[in-house]
Amino acid sequence: MTNIFLALGTNLGDRLKNLQRALTALPPSVHVLRSSPIYETSPWGITDQPEFLNMVIEGETKLSPLDLLRFLKDLERQLGRTPSLRYGPRLIDLDILFYDELLLDTPELTIPHPRLHERAFVLVPLADLAPDFLHPRLGRPVRDLLMAVERTGIRLYLG
Ligand code: ADP
Ligand code: MG
Repeated sequence: MTNIFLALGTNLGDRLKNLQRALTALPPSVHVLRSSPIYETSPWGITDQPEFLNMVIEGETKLSPLDLLRFLKDLERQLGRTPSLRYGPRLIDLDILFYDELLLDTPELTIPHPRLHERAFVLVPLADLAPDFLHPRLGRPVRDLLMAVERTGIRLYLG
């Protein structure tokens, strides 16, 4: 079993339902151990689009990194995501943040996720679960990465 952290994001349709459907569909391929609170966050990159809901989960899996990516991409399609712009609106986005301490750099998959350390909407929920986890490439704990980013526009989502 490998310990993993996944980021979930959605800004189209019934966003809460999108997160719930994704969480329900993860097992048994991914056993969910813990989930962060849900945050509502202002869009980043392309700012002229609806607000996102973001959260992070910690889980365990027997899937290899590439099989995990394929599983998550299939799930995004099943839940109704259609191809769109990077940083553009989406029903559901499922990203692999960490896969144990693995470092992987391929055209299809980079682990740790290459942009997680610049994204407050990932670091805030990640720090709720694992503030002390050391980013295996940067060698710094999640709490330090969070302190280095601007976190305005990120609010606890209370429904
Ligand atoms: P983003 O998540 O950056 O907004 P997409 O969800 O459209 O954009 O992902 C684009 C591609 O990024 C995926 O098809 C996948 O091959 C690649 N990718 C590379 N590393 C990762 C990772 N750690 N987790 C998820 N996707 C990744
Ligand atoms: Mg993605």
